[in-house]
Amino acid sequence: IIDFEARAASCATAAPQPTPLVSLRDVHLAFGETEVLKGIDVEVKQGQAVSIIGPSGSGKSTILRCITGLLRPQRGAIEVGGVRVDGLRTESELIGLRRRVGFVFQQYNLFPHLSVLQNLVISPVKVGGEPRARAEARARELLAKVRMEHKESAYPGELSGGQQQRVAIARALALRPELILFDEVTSALDPEMVGEVLTVIRDLVQDGLTCMLVTHEMRFAEEVSDTVYFTEAGRIVESGSPARLFGAPASERTRAFLQRAS
Ligand code: ADP
Ligand code: MG
Repeated sequence: IIDFEARAASCATAAPQPTPLVSLRDVHLAFGETEVLKGIDVEVKQGQAVSIIGPSGSGKSTILRCITGLLRPQRGAIEVGGVRVDGLRTESELIGLRRRVGFVFQQYNLFPHLSVLQNLVISPVKVGGEPRARAEARARELLAKVRMEHKESAYPGELSGGQQQRVAIARALALRPELILFDEVTSALDPEMVGEVLTVIRDLVQDGLTCMLVTHEMRFAEEVSDTVYFTEAGRIVESGSPARLFGAPASERTRAFLQRAS
């Protein structure tokens, strides 16, 4: 009764909820006979950081790849910025989507023959049609954000893994995406470099970047997320605020996973 009254009161006074920036509704995806996503519902609001945690093979990367259009679900709906993206087919539609959604992977994949600065400039100039001088000015701002401004002339091979990953994050930001997806971006790094990359992501989240994080860094997920989703075997087992999900997991499966992960 109290809940109902509180909700009625907030409905009367609060502004209407904005459409989420990202929504997945009942998303199903199979590779051949193997069902990998079995009805996924996820929402990310503007300015939120949302984490997906769960065992290896539970479908976390597949969820992110559906949002970028790299994979097309067989059922369900995916919207980014209120626009359906799960049915995009043509190359130009997919390129348009990838400009709106930045993606950073475990493997940083910088262009080895380009300097750090040119790695950030090439897409805005070639894909975005930006004037080179403007793209360079923006690239320098982004390098400062990821604390790599002192390395703009270096080549990727001259950098540590952590430095390369910070440049990869800046490069993902260079096209001014509406959100960024981070897929286990610290998993391939030596332990001493994990912290510097997480620090950069923490700064971006505090600046209001909308992002989705797949991570095994449970403390980090707990610290920066607005909402955490726990996946297992292609389903969302539960989701909630980090305090609730980590502090009082509702499902026995979540509890067991968190115990193993800590
Ligand atoms: P996670 O990121 O949670 O570790 P994934 O989303 O990568 O999991 O994978 C989910 C399941 O889908 C796994 O069982 C994996 O083997 C399977 N899978 C992923 N990609 C492919 C593919 N291209 N073809 C067939 N099976 C795949
Ligand atoms: Mg994965």
